[in-house]
Amino acid sequence: MFGYVLAVLGIVVGGALVYSIGYVVKRVRKISEIAFGTKDIVKGFQQQEELYNNTPKSVSGMTSVELPKILKDFPEFSWSEWKKICENTLRAYLEAIENKSLTYLKDASDAIKQQADLIIGEEMQLGITECFDQLQIHRTEIFRYEKKEGLCKIKIQSSLQYFYSKISEEKGKMIDNKIQQCRYDMELVFVQDMSKVDDDLAYEFIGNCPNCGAPMVAVGSTRRCQYCGTEVKEAYNTRIWTLHRIDKAK
Ligand SMILES: [Zn+2]
Repeated sequence: MFGYVLAVLGIVVGGALVYSIGYVVKRVRKISEIAFGTKDIVKGFQQQEELYNNTPKSVSGMTSVELPKILKDFPEFSWSEWKKICENTLRAYLEAIENKSLTYLKDASDAIKQQADLIIGEEMQLGITECFDQLQIHRTEIFRYEKKEGLCKIKIQSSLQYFYSKISEEKGKMIDNKIQQCRYDMELVFVQDMSKVDDDLAYEFIGNCPNCGAPMVAVGSTRRCQYCGTEVKEAYNTRIWTLHRIDKAK
């Protein structure tokens, strides 16, 4: 009797299971059809990715709000000129990384050269080359103006696309190869007085001691290591706007 009940129970549960799997498969197809216009969900996701790769990323454009604030403090600031400089430097920065040469950045600030140099060094060590072909910049906008003690910052964002490929030299093979839509964040800084700048923020500009690697502090117009006393001339300009950072946004 007990065995019989168990068998019936087995059939019922099994049947329900088969029915629900069938139902789930049907639902997935239906969802895929609604979402992507195809019953094949994998194909749907691939089509979605292609569409995504061809759609420019939006930028946080606050230019109309932030620019008047900047002009109030810096009447001579020319956005049209800086926009051009930012876009040209961004192109040069990617060229420098692709060709592993800082000669492309001869007009850029020391900070940007150092940033590119770091990436080039890393990629040489890993034996990889990144190529950014057919680069197109869609839009460049100001997205924030920040006034801090001792310095001012203008954050800028560009939306762009390129045909991205990553090549491993060791294996001689292509790791990645596709059109990419992306955003890059850039930062213009105007240093008024580094001795007034908050330590955490100053660290970005000052960096570590080239001799012992310890953090350095600003002393007047130079920076000095707190441990070994090494002094280095500042790597930033004072009282002039400088494009100081370029970062790929996530
Ligand atoms: Zn030191």
